Amino acid sequence: MKDRPLRCWAEIDGSALRHNLSVVRSRIPQETKLVAVVKANAYGHGLVPVARELVKGGADVLGVSNVEEAAELRAAGLGTTPILLLSACLPGEFPMAIECRAWPTISTYEEAKRLNAAAQKSGQRAIAHFKIDTGMGRLGLWGAEAVKELKRAERLPAVDIEAVCTHFSSADEDPERTEAQWAELMRWRPHFAEKALHVANSATLWRKTVYACSFVRVGLALYGLPPMPFLRRLLRPVMSWKTRVTLLRHLCAGRTVSYGATYLLRKAQRLATLAVGYGDGYFRALSNRAQVLVRGNRCRIRGRVTMDQTVVDVTSTTGCKVGDEVVLLGAQGDQVIHAEELARIAGTIGYEIVTAVGSRVPRIYREFHSLPQGGGAPVKSKTRRTGSRQSRSSSSEEGLRESSRNIRSPHP
Ligand SMILES: *Cc1c(COP(=O)(O)O)cnc(C)c1O
Repeated sequence: MKDRPLRCWAEIDGSALRHNLSVVRSRIPQETKLVAVVKANAYGHGLVPVARELVKGGADVLGVSNVEEAAELRAAGLGTTPILLLSACLPGEFPMAIECRAWPTISTYEEAKRLNAAAQKSGQRAIAHFKIDTGMGRLGLWGAEAVKELKRAERLPAVDIEAVCTHFSSADEDPERTEAQWAELMRWRPHFAEKALHVANSATLWRKTVYACSFVRVGLALYGLPPMPFLRRLLRPVMSWKTRVTLLRHLCAGRTVSYGATYLLRKAQRLATLAVGYGDGYFRALSNRAQVLVRGNRCRIRGRVTMDQTVVDVTSTTGCKVGDEVVLLGAQGDQVIHAEELARIAGTIGYEIVTAVGSRVPRIYREFHSLPQGGGAPVKSKTRRTGSRQSRSSSSEEGLRESSRNIRSPHP
């Protein structure tokens, strides 16, 4: 049963990833360190393969949300690249942060004290980055209070606070607010003048504040999603998401399609059933509204997206056959569907579209240059597949799976 076709899969394009990395690099000063943000399974693209490729391409630091993700990177053989934790650690997570040599982002003396205790217990020193709130309202304290906590934290014997950072709430939509946040940070800057600084996410790369910083933290742009619409032409989407036609039928006028019978055929149509649904992360909010690409044509979704299946209208698509490849996200012929398009329809942002692609969807890695786990021999094929279907593959490919959550055991 090895050669059975894929039903629904995501192709991850290493050359697009490298292209975007070089676009980001070209925006920042040479000495600025690039924190490549790979949290949430690299925005759905696959944590380990993407992290490896970005490190090979010159990313200086990997940014993840939490210690679980940091441990996964370390276990996959990414042993030396620094890791920055972007979310706050739970009290019980500091020992693991130290074990993984990850840098927690801390906001308070309380957290610094816990980190210090864990560091002393392990006989190691810990590095932390200290966050100040300037308007994001998620981590960090404001102004004088933050500075007071920072000064206390700096006296702890086993913790080195190597950078101070903040996060913009509206970098992609409100330059004035972003300026005000920067001004607030600069107001307190004299209290930590000697410390490294970082503020920028993808949207801020195109602002001059990046030049005052030692690090930038970039996710979205690396995956080829534009933080602002004008950047669309500069970046190449890394993920293409595909499925297949599982069934074709002619339905006559008066028939209805899918749950709730929300679509009524006014005239006869040829309908294709696809192997994708919200169980794969294809949002139900796309029901009756989004389009897919079949044989280079845009075809409309008819009726509600269900958990595993979705119906589209292929009446004007000649030659459509069962088994045809269907593009949900990406290019086919001269048509392309970007994450922004689905995001607009679903009332969300491109981040959520790609991050939501489910664990049932295997990721297929194309044009990746990085080596498998442990720096072993390069894999011969240009295409690597991860996910459950790969579980019988050779041990050299073991390390190519992006997430243990995404695979079944080779020997159940
Ligand atoms: C996710 C995240 C980033 C990356 O943001 P993008 O918009 O994807 O570039 C940067 N900083 C912090 C604190 C984050 O949580």
